[in-house]
Amino acid sequence: MDSVDTYLAAALTAIRPLSPRQLSLADADGAVLAGDVTAQWPLPPFDNSAMDGYAVLAGDVETATAGAPVILPVSGEVAAGDTGRRDLAAGSCIKIMTGALLPAGADAVVPVELTDGGTQRVAISRAVAAGDSIRRAGGDARPGDLLLPAGTRLGPVQLGLLAASGHGSVGARPRPRVTVISAGNELAQPGQPLAPGQIWESNSWMLAAAARQAGCDASRHPVVKDNRDGLLAAVRNAIAGADLLITSGGVSMGGEHDVVKAALSGLGTVSFRKVAMQPGMPQGFGLVGAAGTPIFTLPGNPVSAFVSFWIFVAPALRVLQDLSPKRPTPLHAVLTAPLRSPPDKRSFLRGVLDHDAGTVAPVSGQSSHQLAALARANALIIVPERVTGLAPGDAVDVLELP
Ligand code: AMP
Ligand code: MG
Repeated sequence: MDSVDTYLAAALTAIRPLSPRQLSLADADGAVLAGDVTAQWPLPPFDNSAMDGYAVLAGDVETATAGAPVILPVSGEVAAGDTGRRDLAAGSCIKIMTGALLPAGADAVVPVELTDGGTQRVAISRAVAAGDSIRRAGGDARPGDLLLPAGTRLGPVQLGLLAASGHGSVGARPRPRVTVISAGNELAQPGQPLAPGQIWESNSWMLAAAARQAGCDASRHPVVKDNRDGLLAAVRNAIAGADLLITSGGVSMGGEHDVVKAALSGLGTVSFRKVAMQPGMPQGFGLVGAAGTPIFTLPGNPVSAFVSFWIFVAPALRVLQDLSPKRPTPLHAVLTAPLRSPPDKRSFLRGVLDHDAGTVAPVSGQSSHQLAALARANALIIVPERVTGLAPGDAVDVLELP
């Protein structure tokens, strides 16, 4: 039997990061930068007003008070997007909107709130200092400044910054494309009636959603029967559009019914192992097809499939984007109820973590088919291989579920 760490390390070593590509901003959400992005232009690109108000020479309004306002003629108006040059003559002002190009000669903006809002002439009731309410060119970033370092995953703010700094595309590793193939004669489509002996298929929905949560584009292949040729055809068919494949089911010890094992043994580098964990003991991994596409064959019990995804597949998906596969360090919590765990296996038990109290309560229903119990949990309690029992009050490591 492989340990969890040995099995994971072997899989991760085999996986090569995706090649970086020039991605349009529309495709860059969730991509990971392949190189540093530096500012090519000043941000903001020109001196502009931070307020709606009046562009002035600060010296012209230095005596202004509420009791004795300074009155200035308004010589024009400039709005955001006006591109023509405007010059401010001393002793006058120009009405200006937020984001508008600062007129040449102006050195401050008086916010409209400090005026009577006049259009021909304006009464200004407070002095301002040179530079007030002006956003200087390059005040946020100057050409050559590092905006985003290589290895950054592009989220909302990063995409906003790329756009604001004029980048229409970016060199990055795209979101990995993941295809999930569920196999099993007993699997029926949710929403359809069940015949005796059938269950509703859940793993492909769960695993595709988990892959999306892990930052991928994920799709579900139509469910395949326990049929060797059908499964091989599904894998061949999915390879073209996927950077990583996940199968569910068909990897236990049941012989001919374990179709994934039967069909994929010997395909590419796929090998099947027993991993010293609970749930999730039967696992398979390898590279298949001309491009060496990684495939993880997860066990069919829903909780086993889910735990296997987070322990093995999620780190592999990070490697595809050249990110560190290391997961966050487990949190420590105090157990509220006793636990049992098989010897020589690492258990990932389902629990409810209470951050404020620093406690974790095992949910009732720890069997690997109990998806409703998993849904009540927000964390996995990790019980090390050598530990077979824990008591209330014992400290345990927990992985928070995303
Ligand atoms: P297997 O790994 O194929 O031996 O399946 C183990 C258990 O998981 C059996 O009870 C299956 O019915 C169940 N199972 C397998 N695949 C799925 C699936 N896609 N959705 C829900 N349950 C499944
Ligand atoms: Mg099966």
